[in-house]
Amino acid sequence: MLLQCVTCDARRPDTVIFDDFEKAQTQWSLRQSGSRGAQVVTTEARHSGTQSLLSETDRYGLQNIRAEFRYKDDGSCVSFWYLLEYDPVDSPDTCLTVGLHSETDDRFYSTVLPCPEPARWNLFELETAGISPLLIGDWIDQLSIGGVGRAVPLKLHLDDVRIENHGPKRKPRHTAASAPVDCPRALYFPRGVMPEQAEAYADAGINAVFLREPSQEAAVEWTAYGQKCGFAVWLVIPAYYDVRQWMDSARLRSAVFADGLPDDLVCPLQDDYWKLFVLPILLQWVRLSCFAPIQGILLDTNAVGSVHSSYTDVDSCLCDDCFARFLDISGINERIESFPPPDRWGWLTDNKLVLKYREALELRTRIRAEILRERIRAENGNLRLGVLDFRDTWINAGLAAGFGDAEAPSMVVARDPTFGRGYSAAVRWYSERLEQRSVHHHWVPGFDLKEFSPQDLSAHLLAATTAGDGYWIELPVEPAADGETPRVAPPTVEFLNALRSTKHDATSRGGKSSAVRRRSKLTDEKQ
Ligand SMILES: [Zn+2]
Repeated sequence: MLLQCVTCDARRPDTVIFDDFEKAQTQWSLRQSGSRGAQVVTTEARHSGTQSLLSETDRYGLQNIRAEFRYKDDGSCVSFWYLLEYDPVDSPDTCLTVGLHSETDDRFYSTVLPCPEPARWNLFELETAGISPLLIGDWIDQLSIGGVGRAVPLKLHLDDVRIENHGPKRKPRHTAASAPVDCPRALYFPRGVMPEQAEAYADAGINAVFLREPSQEAAVEWTAYGQKCGFAVWLVIPAYYDVRQWMDSARLRSAVFADGLPDDLVCPLQDDYWKLFVLPILLQWVRLSCFAPIQGILLDTNAVGSVHSSYTDVDSCLCDDCFARFLDISGINERIESFPPPDRWGWLTDNKLVLKYREALELRTRIRAEILRERIRAENGNLRLGVLDFRDTWINAGLAAGFGDAEAPSMVVARDPTFGRGYSAAVRWYSERLEQRSVHHHWVPGFDLKEFSPQDLSAHLLAATTAGDGYWIELPVEPAADGETPRVAPPTVEFLNALRSTKHDATSRGGKSSAVRRRSKLTDEKQ
């Protein structure tokens, strides 16, 4: 699962640091965000020798910082053994975080490994470029290893922490022959934005646009521009709306979460909701796609208009119907009447059935999505499907699984883990979690334009296209007066140049990107 550090014979690895924590004195400091935390060298657990470094916090996260070293990256590699203790039920989105500080530009770059297997020793091994393409060739002087989770305790053991320089051969993830054909270089446009600058973007290499809920007229206009300029049009359609009136009149069922009270979100697996709302809305667009060249539809599972904005892993629907079906498919011979709503979550946790419950909801979502996919294919067999703002929860994973197959994988269009952080090996790890569950998909990493300078953005986009992932970018929206449609600012020359550099590299994969080379050269001149 992790990138191998393959040592090239001609280049001997130089050990920059090696900490096995066998000496009592440690050079590591701790930052933690809970109210209680500690770091100590301990014999309680170790991967090798007799001791390891143990750090802990009572909530949210911690970071172990190692300083007092300095080297210039020349293909360096970070490796260590770790054992992370956390509760995957209460904190299902816990991540291991690994970062390096660049002395060259005085910034920390980091990557996140999602949901490491808890309570066992694992090897982490990654070349510096996998933490961030912006570290290539920099002077590096700090290492950070930690974990982030929810308001639950986190314990991290570290052993045999090593940085080696002149180590790995840098290899592109895909060869030109195996690179996926549908590698989008996409821009996301909010509702109401018209294709005024479409030609300039297409000229700079953009080959797809994601349009949020356009009017039918606007969608047709965009597809005409798409045909003229050579980009594909995807629609972003919300799946969950405020249907409180329908729930108040008992036509639709509310979701019920751990507190046992009816929520302002609808039960996400309710047949009538999909029949009355989601399917008719989608079919309008599917029918339009038979006449206007629309490449695909992305469903957004964030709720529109309700107080509770989304269904998460922790918030699994416990309504009468969902809970009764779980009892039924799990072969639990009890009547739903024996489980008053406020007792249901406690009963699942007490009986260690929470993960099984989430799996059952994911499977039901997958079946629903497969039925929807077949219904849509009956109208337009070429239309692709996907999920926007994908997070690895039962609802998103279920939809992605049901929307795609080997022939037409679903598009997983995600903000995490790149949106404000930049491109890193985390994209591969998040995608691999879906592959392990046989979800046919293409993971498209997202970038928030306002978080990056054009030069940095260029390096991240190049790394993403070289890896064969492609990218999507969210543009800053100018505030609109009441009743007016939002506008995105016209593109700057620097932004268009950043896009243009990926247009070239997307077709000539392999080796270090030209923008990264340019940056490294500037870096060298600064030293
Ligand atoms: Zn339900």
